[in-house]
Amino acid sequence: MSMRESTQILVVGGGPAGATAAGLLAKEGFEVTLLERERFPRYHIGESILPSCRPILELLGVWDKVERHGFQPKGGAYFFWGDEEWEVRFSAMGDDNPSAWQVVRSEFDEILLDHARELGVEVVEGISVKELEFDGDRPVAALWAETKDAASKGRIAFDYIVDASGRNGVIATKHLKNRKLHEVFRNVAAWTYWKGAKPLPKGPAGAIGVASTAEGWFWVIPLHDGTTSIGLVTGRDRFNAQRAELGSIQAVYDQSVEQSAIIQELIAGAERVADFKVEQDYSYAAESFGGPGFLLSGDAACFLDPLLSTGVHLATYSAMLAAASISSVLRGEVTEEQAWEFYGTVYRHAYERLLVLVSVFYESYRGKDYHFYNAQRLTEQQRDGLNIQDAFDRIITGIADLEDAQDVYAKVQQHLTGAESGDPIPLNNLNRVHEQKAAPMTEESAVRGLYLSFFPKLGLRRAGE
Ligand SMILES: Cc1cc2nc3c(=O)[nH]c(=O)nc-3n(C[C@H](O)[C@H](O)[C@H](O)COP(=O)(O)OP(=O)(O)OC[C@H]3O[C@@H](n4cnc5c(N)ncnc54)[C@H](O)[C@@H]3O)c2cc1C
Repeated sequence: MSMRESTQILVVGGGPAGATAAGLLAKEGFEVTLLERERFPRYHIGESILPSCRPILELLGVWDKVERHGFQPKGGAYFFWGDEEWEVRFSAMGDDNPSAWQVVRSEFDEILLDHARELGVEVVEGISVKELEFDGDRPVAALWAETKDAASKGRIAFDYIVDASGRNGVIATKHLKNRKLHEVFRNVAAWTYWKGAKPLPKGPAGAIGVASTAEGWFWVIPLHDGTTSIGLVTGRDRFNAQRAELGSIQAVYDQSVEQSAIIQELIAGAERVADFKVEQDYSYAAESFGGPGFLLSGDAACFLDPLLSTGVHLATYSAMLAAASISSVLRGEVTEEQAWEFYGTVYRHAYERLLVLVSVFYESYRGKDYHFYNAQRLTEQQRDGLNIQDAFDRIITGIADLEDAQDVYAKVQQHLTGAESGDPIPLNNLNRVHEQKAAPMTEESAVRGLYLSFFPKLGLRRAGE
């Protein structure tokens, strides 16, 4: 295996976070190498994409390719939540064209990774980063091995590294050991794929369906390949106890299906066409999202319960922030310390705000007697620990989301079209749930004296300059 022995920026992982960070950095003219453990296309869960990904995919220049691919357009979401039903209709955002998709992730991720390659990133697949070499507390090189032949190995030195290795989280789990599981959202997901499932009887075309049961909830995601992804999310302890009692994952899943009239209706006569897959304990955050010479992006930094389909949004959003931060540092516009503080603050704010929102969503479930829903509540102490009471209040009133969503979308549109000003995007209350952004893009909203800038280059700008 021949590979560069050194690179300006190394990106570990070719999922949405890695491909976006690498692609944006290459667009800025830097030398970027991306190492990906698998050979694409590879399977991945996380199929329901939010409209908030669109401006970032547009910035990357890959939106048209995604749009042309033929994925299932996603008109919004429909919640069968306890006694209530809620609709989220993206067209209420003022754009009749699809802004979101239900994607087969193996295909979506391959489009993004190929695009990064076209932008000049040296992408090497089938290579696992095994560990990093440090000079003091600064990583300076990665030791890699071919995934299928551990004897074939090597070393690559770098100036900067973006860890976008997903749940694997090379830096947080192997080196810093600073990943903390959340006490709330200790859930399990078990999912499979159905052929011949009926479309949701209500809601916008192609919507994700979310249907609560007594002790959890199901997602229903229609895919363009004719299958429907239907997954159960439930408390870990309950899941493990039931699995032991009933003897199989399928039995636990089937028992929950029996609690949901809507899921029964959708899969009546349908055929299950895949084995069950399971993920456990999937809400965590690293104590720090960066350090000397490195940033953590996407799931490598933090992950949140999938209730509001926020994973790919956080992955691409953090990748954009990382690319802007590293670009400005390499151009000498800001110090590493300043940029990293900006990155950590902004990304953590976006994450924590969604964490609170997910908890609020669970709390809104009317069946207060159900253990599952109570288990998803943030305690006062946890809220204080997050230091986001203000953010919480703002979410409840919807103010923050309205401001931020309008801001980021309009700014990117302005940049892409060269227009001086953009019309604000009207959002209704429910759409705010699906339009989470916390991007400081003006002097007034600067964080630690810095704000994101897209023109003339992607980077960070100092307020007042
Ligand atoms: C049950 C469940 C349902 C979900 N549903 C949704 C949803 O509907 N919508 C949504 O937006 N999100 C959803 N998510 C979240 C979503 O899957 C992730 O947030 C998203 O994939 C994160 O992207 P990423 O690029 O950070 O990581 P990944 O997509 O995981 O990519 C990381 C890449 O790094 C590679 N890698 C790992 N280790 C190494 C190494 N040592 N060396 C080299 N390469 C390495 C991996 O092979 C992988 O390709 C869901 C998650 C779960 C668990």
